[in-house]
This record gives sequence, structure tokens and C-alpha cells, in this order.
Amino acid sequence: MKTLKIAIQKSGRLNEKSVELLKNCGLSFENYKSSLISNVSNFPLEILFLRDDDIPEYVQDGIADLGIVGENVISETGVDVSFLQMLGFGKCTLKLAVQTHSTIENIADLNGKSIATSYPVILKNFLDDNKIKAEIRTISGSVEIAPGLGLSDAIFDIVSTGGTLKSNGLKPFAEVMKSEAVLIGRKGIENEPLIVELIQRIQSVLRAKE
Ligand code: ATP
Ligand code: ZN
Repeated sequence: MKTLKIAIQKSGRLNEKSVELLKNCGLSFENYKSSLISNVSNFPLEILFLRDDDIPEYVQDGIADLGIVGENVISETGVDVSFLQMLGFGKCTLKLAVQTHSTIENIADLNGKSIATSYPVILKNFLDDNKIKAEIRTISGSVEIAPGLGLSDAIFDIVSTGGTLKSNGLKPFAEVMKSEAVLIGRKGIENEPLIVELIQRIQSVLRAKE
């Protein structure tokens, strides 16, 4: 029997819940922190531990059959994969925010302004849909400090509680996307018996949590 591969986040916000979900599905494996691959002893499955940003492309290219990743990362990478199951964890919202004293109050006010973000693709699609012309400044992290440094007029970032925004003197003014972790698969895989079996197990774990 062919061994399937599932890619999950190696460390970070989705790692623990992804491991817990697979264990709750009855899969038995060692959660090696140092190794990139772990074998499941009671199911023909290998677990690949990767950076979340790499997961959509691994799945699209068929290096992994399945992956667990945030919807935001899938949208940002623009890959063509099958959405197999929403997983109910890793929930967050991508929002536009400005400094509390800013004159920007709505998305139309962003015309001619600059926006710092780590999600330029999602932001560009949103701005295009709303016919807004703004300059996107892509930075890889600590987006919240950009307005204070004079690098941008606004930011577009992930917000969960809003605490980070507040402590950086920022306030959100528009919601662009909601996201949660999802199980994705490479195109065409959804009817393979092992995949069907795994999805059924995941669904019963999720149902038991309701
Ligand atoms: P990696 O090292 O794998 O690249 P990362 O630093 O890019 O990790 P994390 O911060 O671990 O990513 O977040 C992983 C995912 O968790 C996000 O892409 C998002 O879908 C989700 N998430 C949920 N809440 C938050 C939050 N408050 N901030 C950031 N991401 C969140
Ligand atoms: Zn990442």
C-alpha cells in the first residue's frame, strides 16, 4: 500500500493542535521535535514537519498528499489545492489598522496612502476589488511598528485579540478576511479510500468536540 504524506507546521501556532488532532484520530507516532519526518505506526502515513508557508506548495506539487495550514496562507500563496475539511482551530482575522490619531477612517481613505503588510497578495486582491490605489509595503514581520516609524500610513495584519494593535497605538477599522486551519489535499485525491478514511476519522473527532 502506498504511504501517504501529510504536512503540518513544525513549530508555531498550529503545531500543537495539528499533532493533537492526528493523535485523536488514533494515529500513533513520535512527535520528534528535531526530525522533519515521523512515521505513523498504525496507518500508512508519514508526517512532514514544515514551515507553514511551505505547506500549500508542497501539497500543490504532490510532495505531500495532505496538509494542515491556515486559510490565510493558502490565499497568500494562491495555490490550486482541494479544501477537504475546516478544522476549527487557529482562528484569526486579517484586518486593516491605523494609528489611533489617524485621519483614515474607512477603506476609501486609503487611496494614495501606504500600507505595510506580510500578506501583499491578499491585500492587493482586496484593494483591487474595492478599486483602491494604495502603495503596498511588504515586510516580513513586526508590521505593527511600521506606522510609528513612518514607514506606512496603515497596516494590514492578522489580529486575534487586538492586544498587540492596542499596545502599538493602533486601531482596526476594516476586516478583510477570517481564517482558520484547514485540511487541504492535492487535487483529485479526495476520493482515494485512505483519504476518505482519514477525513471520516477527523470529522468524528471534530463532532465529539462540539
Ligand atoms: P512558521 O515558522 O511555520 O512560518 P509563522 O510564524 O509564519 O510560522 P504562526 O505565528 O505560528 O506562523 O501562525 C500560524 C498560523 O496561525 C497563521 O498563519 C494563522 O493562520 C494562525 N493564527 C491564529 N491566530 C494568530 C495570531 N494571533 N497571529 C498570527 N497567526 C495566527
Ligand atoms: Zn510562516
